[in-house]
Formats: sequence, C-alpha cells, structure tokens
Amino acid sequence: MAKLYFHYATMNAGKSTMLLQASYNYRERGMTTMLFVAGHYRKGDEAGYISSRIGLESDAEMFADGDDLFARIAEHHERTTVHCIFVDEAQFLQEAQVWQLARVADRLNIPVMCYGLRTDFQGRLFSGSETLLAIADELREVRTICRCGRKATMVVRLGPDGKVARQGAQVAIGKDVYVSLCRRHWEEEMGRVAAEDLVGFAGE
Ligand SMILES: [Zn+2]
Repeated sequence: MAKLYFHYATMNAGKSTMLLQASYNYRERGMTTMLFVAGHYRKGDEAGYISSRIGLESDAEMFADGDDLFARIAEHHERTTVHCIFVDEAQFLQEAQVWQLARVADRLNIPVMCYGLRTDFQGRLFSGSETLLAIADELREVRTICRCGRKATMVVRLGPDGKVARQGAQVAIGKDVYVSLCRRHWEEEMGRVAAEDLVGFAGE
C-alpha cells in the first residue's frame, strides 16, 4: 500500500532540493509525478513553481485554503496515471487537506511525499505539520546544523533591520531571512533565558 510521508526540518535544510531530486528520479523512469506548492506567498496571476538553493526548479500546482486536493489529484489521475505526489511547504496545508492526501495514499494507492517546516519562528507547530505528525505513515527528519554544530531544530526570523523577531504573524510576506538554530541558541536569541541562567555558558 502507498504511504503518506512527512519530511520535516527547519529552514535551509535542503527540503526542496530533496523533493525535486526525488521527483526527477520518478520522471527519469518514465513515471508521472504531480507537484504542489503553497500559494500563500504568491500573487494572483503568478504561476506555481518549486526552486531550490542549488538551482533546481520545476513547475508546480498551487494549493490554497479550501482546495480539495483529493478531488484534484483523482481527476488528474483519471486522465494520466500518477505515480507519486510531492507537496512542498506542507506546513501550510489545512487539517482537512492532510486527510485528503492520506486518502490519496489509501484509496488511489499513490504515495504522497510532503516536505515542510515543523514549527514556526515562535516554536509552535504549523497546522499542516501538526496533522502530518499525527497521521503520516512515515516521519523523516531532514537534518541541518546550528552555528554551534548541534542539530538545528528551531528557526528564528530576522526582520529587515537584521534583528531577531520575537513576535508577529506566523507567515511573513516579504524578504525576511530565517536562520536555523539548536533549541538552546534559539531560546537565547528569543530572549527567553534570563541573564543569570546563562552563567556557566560563557566562553563557548
Ligand atoms: Zn546552537
């Protein structure tokens, strides 16, 4: 039986590169894949695409709140057999959409590979990630490292002024920069650790 996968990570871990490489592997064998990306950052008439930092790029269909992904995939699958579904920015899926993707695996027998962030810059689960963590068949962590060399599991957002944002909307539209950190450095950057608690950590 096909499975629903969730590959999760922080920012800049190479998720889109992995997605595009995996899709390419299918297409190289003459198989058909369907790629989806969140439409949340894109303007009305802009076409969907997935790009990676190392230069790979592919067209992709956009998903928005309220879209029935099962219906869209089933309709496409009727015309052309689809062998694998790939979803980038899967943290933006709605709970119902994650269930629709589970149905694609369970009823259409097409594997679904979702890639996304686990938590936002305030350390809270995205709704799509929350449901994926709850019901995906396979969870795979895409690893990246903090500046200290430890595994990065958290992300901070730098505003236009270069400073760490401690509050704000979960999704910032703009040119904000994200930095992946280990949990310890994330708490320090977010100002959640009192000065006296830092005793013993000096000189690292
Ligand atoms: Zn660190």
